[in-house]
Amino acid sequence: MSKSIDIPAHLRIERGAIHHLSSPDIYSWIKGRKITVITGNSQTRTVTDKVLEQVPFDPLLYHILHCHDNSLDVINQLERQCLESGTEVIIGIGGGKVLDIAKVVGTRLKAPIILLPTAISSDAICSPVAVIKLKDKKTSLGVSMPKAVLIDLDILVSSPNRLCIAGFGDLLSNKTAIFDWKLAHQANKDTMDTFASLMANNAVEAFLNVINNQSLSEETLLRVSAESLVMSGIAMSVAGSSRPCSGAEHLISHALDYYCGGKALHGEQVALGVLIAQYLQKEYGNQEDLTPAFQQLGLPMHFKDLGYTKEEIKLAISKAPNMRNRYTILNEFSLNDKQLNQLIHDVFEFGETSKAKTAFGFTGR
Ligand SMILES: [Zn+2]
Repeated sequence: MSKSIDIPAHLRIERGAIHHLSSPDIYSWIKGRKITVITGNSQTRTVTDKVLEQVPFDPLLYHILHCHDNSLDVINQLERQCLESGTEVIIGIGGGKVLDIAKVVGTRLKAPIILLPTAISSDAICSPVAVIKLKDKKTSLGVSMPKAVLIDLDILVSSPNRLCIAGFGDLLSNKTAIFDWKLAHQANKDTMDTFASLMANNAVEAFLNVINNQSLSEETLLRVSAESLVMSGIAMSVAGSSRPCSGAEHLISHALDYYCGGKALHGEQVALGVLIAQYLQKEYGNQEDLTPAFQQLGLPMHFKDLGYTKEEIKLAISKAPNMRNRYTILNEFSLNDKQLNQLIHDVFEFGETSKAKTAFGFTGR
């Protein structure tokens, strides 16, 4: 029997993509409905103003809600305000947190969700998963797929480099996650969905192929990374879980959030996790070395780059297997203190911070 998959009915990844909000294929189903725009701080508010200037919304039918964090209290408050205003459509304009909040509120209201990312810092731009803060700890929730995703390259080009680089980290993690999924399947701890794993692998391969092109422009790099992150989100929808894009490297990032104060962006922490996971995976089987891609893209290659100490990284690695019931390469090792020190030495042997220079001129933004 075949299975049905949730994907956005409208997806645009191009310059000027925000204009599609007023095109008949989208405007026809939002026209005359009560709309709530969920957006973030001053930077994303500027984009929101630009969007609203260009779209002929009836001023009586929309209102804007600003959110400053993704805590459960804030989400409950936004949901109440949406209920009071009779919201029928949710539009999320912002970075990963805003998009996640828009997905959660839209899912609770059973309202169609439109997402306009202002940065591509993670695969949240088009996935059935949202991360929220529950009692100061991050937790993942299953949410509805957005009905439309409009990724405007003109907006992404002016987003901070750090956010883009975090997105690259979240994308590269597909490699270590798929390795872990296969491993779990072989150990009879999980069932692998071949279709979902092919999609997640093709997404990251398409990205890796493009970054090897010497004459690559920043716009092409952003477009391909956005496409690949969208495909990663769809792979999760196919799998019915985050498995195709989340393995040991994500568990390490979750442990950094939970035990060590979550000092960096999700994609940055996941990138550190990729370096650790690929080291262990190479001990166990064939795993591609992603280090050259890290250097090329300017990804963090040392825990000190993200403000963590050696003891914190050791703690995160040792706690990671218990962060959720997910079999990964970490379950194949029971690392004692001496082995953990060896791992840290081998993976981060540069000694001091190793901020790599990006090959794409991603500096100073
Ligand atoms: Zn992620």
